[in-house]
Amino acid sequence: MANEVLKLLLKEYEQKRVRAELDLEKRKEELYNSVPRLAQIEEELSRYAINTAKEMLTNNKSGVKELNKYVEKLKKEKESILKSQKLDRSYLKPKYECKDCNDTGYIVNSDYTTTMCHCLKQKILDKSYNKSNMSNLDKENFETFSLEVFSNIKDPRFNMSPRDNMEYIYKKSIEFVENFDKANTKNLLFTGNIGLRKNFYV
Ligand SMILES: [Zn+2]
Repeated sequence: MANEVLKLLLKEYEQKRVRAELDLEKRKEELYNSVPRLAQIEEELSRYAINTAKEMLTNNKSGVKELNKYVEKLKKEKESILKSQKLDRSYLKPKYECKDCNDTGYIVNSDYTTTMCHCLKQKILDKSYNKSNMSNLDKENFETFSLEVFSNIKDPRFNMSPRDNMEYIYKKSIEFVENFDKANTKNLLFTGNIGLRKNFYV
């Protein structure tokens, strides 16, 4: 089950990333249409990046230095154009929901290992919580629980009524919750066939 949940979530994350990237493309297109110089700068920057890589391969240090100077100049120009449009640098970057993992679900550590991001961990918890029926706790809890719904007619097989039985279970459950943090508290297990109303009775 856990694997299925993770698979599903990672698919959602991929879709989120694609959406963020498409959204960026749209924003870029609109901005470049109104300020064509920005599109030119982008083009020049990518051309310089290729040239810089070439110069580095041939170990041409002065060439690289020269190109870096141009790149810095272009970046400054780009920034001042953005400023004049009342935009900041982040406008030309994808807007990911999680800034820590850029919606990949994982964070790359300095030693190149990966750690699951807090956002993905939380999403897994949320999904498990919903699946466990515990998301109804605001409606289904000890305060809203009523013994009245159980018959008080004694069942000769058990020599007690369903209500007496449920009262006993109720008391045991309260006891369990009150002593939950104590080391010697044993687990509580509800068993029985499907349809026996193990979940809750309002
Ligand atoms: Zn994250």
